[in-house]
Amino acid sequence: MPDPVSRRTFLATAAAAAAAGKIRSASADNGDAPRGGPVAISSANGLRAVTKAAAMINDGADTLDAVVAGVNIVEADPTDHSVGLGGLPNEEGVVELDSSVMHGPTHNSGAVAALRNVVYASRVAKLVLERTDHAMIVGHGALRFAKAHGFEEQDLLTDEARKMWLRWKETHSDRDDWLPPPDAPDNGKQSRAHSGVQYTYGTIHCSALDTRGDLSAVTTTSGLSYKIPGRVGDSPIVGAGMYVDNAVGAAGSTGRGEAVIKNCGAFAVVELMRNGASPPDACMAVIKRIADHTRDPHLLDDRGRPSFDVKMYALAKDGRFAAASIWSGGKLAVLSNGTARHEDAAYLFKRPEKQ
Ligand code: ASP
Repeated sequence: MPDPVSRRTFLATAAAAAAAGKIRSASADNGDAPRGGPVAISSANGLRAVTKAAAMINDGADTLDAVVAGVNIVEADPTDHSVGLGGLPNEEGVVELDSSVMHGPTHNSGAVAALRNVVYASRVAKLVLERTDHAMIVGHGALRFAKAHGFEEQDLLTDEARKMWLRWKETHSDRDDWLPPPDAPDNGKQSRAHSGVQYTYGTIHCSALDTRGDLSAVTTTSGLSYKIPGRVGDSPIVGAGMYVDNAVGAAGSTGRGEAVIKNCGAFAVVELMRNGASPPDACMAVIKRIADHTRDPHLLDDRGRPSFDVKMYALAKDGRFAAASIWSGGKLAVLSNGTARHEDAAYLFKRPEKQ
């Protein structure tokens, strides 16, 4: 049982320190807050998401409600094959969704993984944050949890996505996510750079900052196309696909989740910013680390460079933002100073010109 005298003493000390400006709550730590209105950043497919998020924040919404409402637009769009309705399925033709959310002021998070039949994975992740004492719920449990909260089941495989999956199935031959065992006669997995296999990565990440200096983030995805059922990527993993520290900034990722997980991508970006790196430097340092740590021959091209792409996104507490990717050509969606637009992501390697 807490000692009431010590607790009273602590509260008195804390009140005195706060009055002296020595302790500031996260949401009051607004010395660097942006003056030109809210800032929202997203993967390139999130122009509508950043616009919606900033409009809600301008109307007084909490940053977490705003980013989730922003990505809901893309989750419900059947023409975006990276997430929600119309997302590309696993190797058995079933769409499985991953999502995580994080609320800066409370440093609270929620996530779902391998969730089937529910369009708005990010809303379910937010409910894990709000209505459970857990950080992540997966698979059947996630679906049951969503249904308990009134979500309706729906087949997420659109006709267009089914045809794309069928084409992959009919043509993929041995080029899938299974690796040969060590005693297989030919253990050399063909490099994906040369295999011609059509994997589709795609995800939506969105981070937002309000004028009080409060941050939240969400990442939501149908994950790597044609994955092994039950495969979980970086998107629902706090510290990999998304992370927020309200005193520092927010970060997120898209691209090959396995590489982001093994490098604690979003957490690393935020930690680098905490130690003084600018958002572009922090993103690029993590991209370089991912490239340096990629050793599997089947993931390298003939010059030893990763044959996949990853993008890291960062939004600092003072409103500075950036994105960096392994390969050139990437963009991020931004809303700042009231204007939504695309900006170029920095890159490590220039993509070879198409012949
Ligand atoms: N990062 C996601 C995953 O690995 C996919 C993506 O962003 O394209 O599941």
